Amino acid sequence: MNCIFCAIVNGDIPSKKVYEDEYCYAFLDIAPQAPVHCLVVPREHIGSADEITPDNACIVAEIFKAIPGIAKSLGLEGGYRIVSNIGEDGCQSVKHLHFHILGGKKLSENMA
Ligand code: 5GP
Ligand code: ZN
Repeated sequence: MNCIFCAIVNGDIPSKKVYEDEYCYAFLDIAPQAPVHCLVVPREHIGSADEITPDNACIVAEIFKAIPGIAKSLGLEGGYRIVSNIGEDGCQSVKHLHFHILGGKKLSENMA
């Protein structure tokens, strides 16, 4: 499968690693939209949050268990935002589930 985030997880494409464990890999976004912009992806290919099922939901739970520590390591004491874009209307450009962690400033109240 030709998936850029699978290639990043496998180390075939370089990335700035923030965190990794058995279930997920976190790295800095190549085109940051906030002072801190990190992506957290499952090691296993899941197309989007719309493809979360009872069988793979435990991976998502593991990602969310890791996020507070990732946020702390990024210095996001003042808070942050987690975003996951889905499909055409959600402007998802990479078809491998990922959670954007955005912060490092007071974010816009406008989410859409
Ligand atoms: P989406 O638009 O699918 O929600 O988010 C995809 C994100 O992946 C974008 O913020 C984009 O900047 C980031 N991205 C795309 N290609 C690469 C890459 O090769 N390396 C890194 N670090 N980020 C990437
Ligand atoms: Zn993938």
